[in-house]
Amino acid sequence: MIVVAIDGPAGSGKSTVADALATALGVPHVDSGAYYRAATLAVLRAEVDPTDVGAVTAVVGRVVIDRVDGRTLLDGEDVEDDIRGATVTANVSAVAAHPAVRDLLLVAQRSGIARDGGVVDGRDAATRIVPDADLKVWLDADVEERGRRRALQAGEPERLDHHIADLHRRDAADATQMVRADDAVVVNTTGLSLDHVVATVADLARTAAGGS
Ligand code: C5P
Repeated sequence: MIVVAIDGPAGSGKSTVADALATALGVPHVDSGAYYRAATLAVLRAEVDPTDVGAVTAVVGRVVIDRVDGRTLLDGEDVEDDIRGATVTANVSAVAAHPAVRDLLLVAQRSGIARDGGVVDGRDAATRIVPDADLKVWLDADVEERGRRRALQAGEPERLDHHIADLHRRDAADATQMVRADDAVVVNTTGLSLDHVVATVADLARTAAGGS
């Protein structure tokens, strides 16, 4: 049984690294941000103001969010593609900022961990979702590099400034939720390849699990 928590800002590579590490360890990957994204989609579909705590909490309390085979289900509907779009991304921080929403989603996020463990990525994985994790990693990278990654992912290398500005906005909006655990190992991924980061974190995980 090994539980790994990987936190960090948007574009630090945590979701990709968590996914690769989970595959290497043979445990599930729990993408905690996907739950906030699906909750945000439900809020937008209900035409509720994301800052209206009462209305938002009521909507989120009514829906069922699941993750199955790397896809996100909202009341049984596969919404994985919809939740990655610009509209959800622009509104997710406001929805995630409500403590009542965070309480509602915590149980579902924890239930993604299997009996043999899991790799949880997010903003508060190490401090709140799995505070007893065997390994806590804080992934970071310069905002310019995070912006380059986002621009490439979006197929818009010419819109680098837009993606950097968007990351600055989300870093500020997520500041309260984004908590680095005191016992997290900091890995700055600036200039490092994905393979290199995955190998580094896998080594840390093997050591934490008691291997060589
Ligand atoms: O990781 P991802 O970018 O998909 O997360 C989307 C949003 O969900 C974040 O910008 C943040 O507002 C919220 N989030 C959070 N706590 C987590 C994971 C994500 O508040 N553990």
